[in-house]
Amino acid sequence: MEVMLHEAVSDLDQGEKMGHFQNFKLTVYCVAQILERMDLETLQKQYEFIEKYVGLDKVYLEPYRDGHWVEKDKMKGFIDFFRSKHVEVAGGFTTVVPDLSEEDKKRQRLFGTFCYSNPEMREYIRKVSEYCAEQFDEIILDDFYFTNCTCEDCIRKKGNRTWVEFRKELMKDVSENLIVGPARKINPKVKMIIKFPNWRESYHATGYRPDVEKDIFDMVYTGTETRASAYQDQHLPTYLSYSLVRWMDEASEGRNHGTWFDTYQCWPVDDYLEQGYLSAFAKPEEITLFQWTDLFENKLVTPLGLQLSRIDRMLDLAGEPVGIPAYIPYASEGENHIEDFLGMQGFALYPTPVFPEKGSVLLTRSSLGDETVFQRLKAFLLEGGRAFVTSGFMSGAPEAEWRDVSSAYLTGHKLAVTRYYRTDDPAGYLEGNEPVLFPDIQHSNNMSWSLLNGGAGEYHSTLFLKDTYGKGQLYLLNTPENPSDLTRIPEWAYDAVKPVFNYGGTYVSARNVSLFHYDNDVMILYAHVTDKAHPVRATIHIQEENARLMQLFVRYAPGGEKELELQKRDVFHDFTKKKELTCEVVLNPGEFYEFRIERG
Ligand SMILES: [Zn+2]
Repeated sequence: MEVMLHEAVSDLDQGEKMGHFQNFKLTVYCVAQILERMDLETLQKQYEFIEKYVGLDKVYLEPYRDGHWVEKDKMKGFIDFFRSKHVEVAGGFTTVVPDLSEEDKKRQRLFGTFCYSNPEMREYIRKVSEYCAEQFDEIILDDFYFTNCTCEDCIRKKGNRTWVEFRKELMKDVSENLIVGPARKINPKVKMIIKFPNWRESYHATGYRPDVEKDIFDMVYTGTETRASAYQDQHLPTYLSYSLVRWMDEASEGRNHGTWFDTYQCWPVDDYLEQGYLSAFAKPEEITLFQWTDLFENKLVTPLGLQLSRIDRMLDLAGEPVGIPAYIPYASEGENHIEDFLGMQGFALYPTPVFPEKGSVLLTRSSLGDETVFQRLKAFLLEGGRAFVTSGFMSGAPEAEWRDVSSAYLTGHKLAVTRYYRTDDPAGYLEGNEPVLFPDIQHSNNMSWSLLNGGAGEYHSTLFLKDTYGKGQLYLLNTPENPSDLTRIPEWAYDAVKPVFNYGGTYVSARNVSLFHYDNDVMILYAHVTDKAHPVRATIHIQEENARLMQLFVRYAPGGEKELELQKRDVFHDFTKKKELTCEVVLNPGEFYEFRIERG
């Protein structure tokens, strides 16, 4: 016993201890300008706050950013400080730089990002990487590792190539020969991590290439800053804080090391917290908060430790995250984040650059970034796959290819839908809804079959259309002109879509509620906080004849588990009678709920 105790203490002395969470490490990033001015007394005070409200497992300390170099002796003091608190320490740097000479005035570099055609700047970034590798065995690059430089040197070097092609080659060279190569030469043990920004759809335009860089760097990292979607700079829906992590997990073949979000442009508090919840639901290895001093005495941060500890316990019971693949190839764009807007309405999606072999898949306009997508789609359908394609996919598809799989076409008109019609129900009409603008789609009657129509006056168009191909089915999902209007479509109308567009035969009918599935029949429901925050009624559907539904972490239930009463009902969908078990639950906005299905 004594020996064991002694061993435990000596482990602690070496800086190892149990983390604050079982499922991830909580880490905080400290930028160079802050560390440059920091003294140990202030650091201690701020550490106490962060430790109390969040729980600190690891820090990334930054020796360089924007011309600011933290002296090595000073950094050593911080490293020792954190080690004495048993906090793991790693390094980081940010690839921004002031003009190095008068000549640099000709380069219009956004946020001071580097011009990698300039020999002086190339030499400078190599020194930064070496300086960091001298001090740390693990180094992350903050996500200013893009280039938008269009100076005359860059134009000349680009030659006849496109900017995308030029920047892909340029950043491959920089990554190999100026960042990772020199760092490894200085410190053969060093692990290099590239953090990719939250704006996946623009990576290729700015030289970010996960398809290339994942193999140059040891690990990747995912930006999950979605902030207040309506009011932030980058027009990114909240669901991205979950879905981009899943895309990056797949893109990096399992070498996605963590998620990262910040306190900026988050109103109300829930907009900050949702980034953390959704990041955690994706089960990352680390959750990084940016950045140290922004967290101190910040009301956004005070509930975070509590909420993450609750999610941590939920994740103990959850398997691996799963969902319907949304095929988003590398270096693709178009109809950006439609999969995230769908994810906010309960479609359990996860984007992936890998086209699935079977099951279901969502294709969006971004999927057309793969020139062979129709070949893949047809092979998938022939073998019995179920493909859901958006109206954006149809509109961008080569016409001959598209007409080979569906009779539908866009008329070019728009239709303000006020009436929904579920064609499975002889009296399935919902009149007098707020208008939602859709592209008008026509199709050949009895060649393709519409499961949901949207109309106004004497006219209607299809909103959900089925075609068959081989053993498979192709469903066309008409999405509103403004993807945010997906939130204004009644749940009743979605119930014509969700019986088939779901994962594992389970779906939820509720507005602004996301569903997260895990591979052990556990699921989490989260009711997003919108500008109309109030409790919502949600119906959970399980397409089984016999099953039990347990709600977990119920405050007043013995053992924290409560069996929910399920109603049996017959559902007619697509000319077929299906058995369903349903259960109604009330969800509070900003709250997460965990359930387990027991089948058979
Ligand atoms: Zn340039």
